[in-house]
Order: sequence, then structure tokens, then C-alpha cells
Amino acid sequence: HYSTSSGIAGVRERTLIAVKPDGVQRRLVGQIVHRFEQRGFKLVGLKMLKASEDLLSQHYHELKKKDFFPYLLCYMSSSPLVIMVWEGHNVVQTSRMMVGSTNPAEANPGTVRGDFGIHVSRNVVHASDSVEGAQREIQLWFNHTELIDWDCCDHSSTYEL
Ligand code: GDP
Ligand code: MG
Repeated sequence: HYSTSSGIAGVRERTLIAVKPDGVQRRLVGQIVHRFEQRGFKLVGLKMLKASEDLLSQHYHELKKKDFFPYLLCYMSSSPLVIMVWEGHNVVQTSRMMVGSTNPAEANPGTVRGDFGIHVSRNVVHASDSVEGAQREIQLWFNHTELIDWDCCDHSSTYEL
């Protein structure tokens, strides 16, 4: 049984995943995209951009008072990001599991951060942490015309409904 109140709408959940500058520089984009495809999620938006500090401070508004905040903005704006929207059942929670703990030193092997990272300041990927947060972040980074509604031909091999 889907754990959502809205039945089929549960497979329409969306999250924002970003390959951070270190991930792009280290040529990890393909491997990260591959993990989400392989799991069965559907890609509904993708672009590469160099983010402004203004956009990044909106994205990370909850962290403005942290002492590492200036370093975070500097790192995140240092070179391009690849940002994506992935869709599927429970995608927000499952992505957080696939990405691993914020600090790669504590992230489990098999997670993106646990396989590709070593220090909290360079943790390779971003993943939204709640359904509401994902909605806010998707609106911040994507125009609605950049998000594609499409039918995946293996849908019935992935889901019952
Ligand atoms: P996330 O949701 O797992 O990405 O973690 P948070 O929302 O708590 O923090 C956002 C981002 O800030 C992290 O992914 C790191 O890039 C960065 N960050 C968090 N804690 C630290 C820290 O102690 N030092 C530094 N340099 N960066 C940090
Ligand atoms: Mg976060």
C-alpha cells in the first residue's frame, strides 16, 4: 500500500536534486543521474547553471546564521551546478537515503556522499529534505515550462497503479 493519502498522487511526488560544484568538477554527474534512474525515478527537469549568491541564499535561507554560511555560498557559486527534478513514489525520503548524511565522513557506504565524499564542506549533492521544502526549492530553481510531464513506458513494471 502507498503511504500517501492521495493514492496515485504518491507517485507524483517530486524532489530537487543538485550535483554541487565539486560533483560537476569531479565528473560525477553521470553516476549520480544513473543512481536515480536505476532506482526507478523519473527525470522531469534538468539544467546546468552557475548560481548567483542571491539565489543560493534564498535556497539556503534556513542556514543564514550559521558560521559556515559565507563559505557555503562561495563553494556553491564557484562553478556550475547540475540541478534536476526527480519524480516518483516517496522520492523525497528515498533520495535523502540515497544521498546519505550531510557529513560524508558519517555517510553510509552505498550512498552518494558515503561513496564520493570525505568532508562536510564538499558533499557532492543536494537533496530536498521534505515534500514542502521540495516544492519551495523546485519553484525557486525551475520555471514551470522547464518541468516535463511525460509517461514513462515502464510505469506498470515500476508501480501497481
Ligand atoms: P543537507 O540537507 O544534508 O545538505 O544539510 P544542511 O541543510 O544541514 O546543510 C546544507 C549544506 O550546508 C550541506 O549540504 C553542506 O554543503 C553545508 N554544510 C552543512 N554543515 C556544514 C559545516 O559544518 N561546514 C561547512 N563548511 N558546510 C556545511
Ligand atoms: Mg538541507
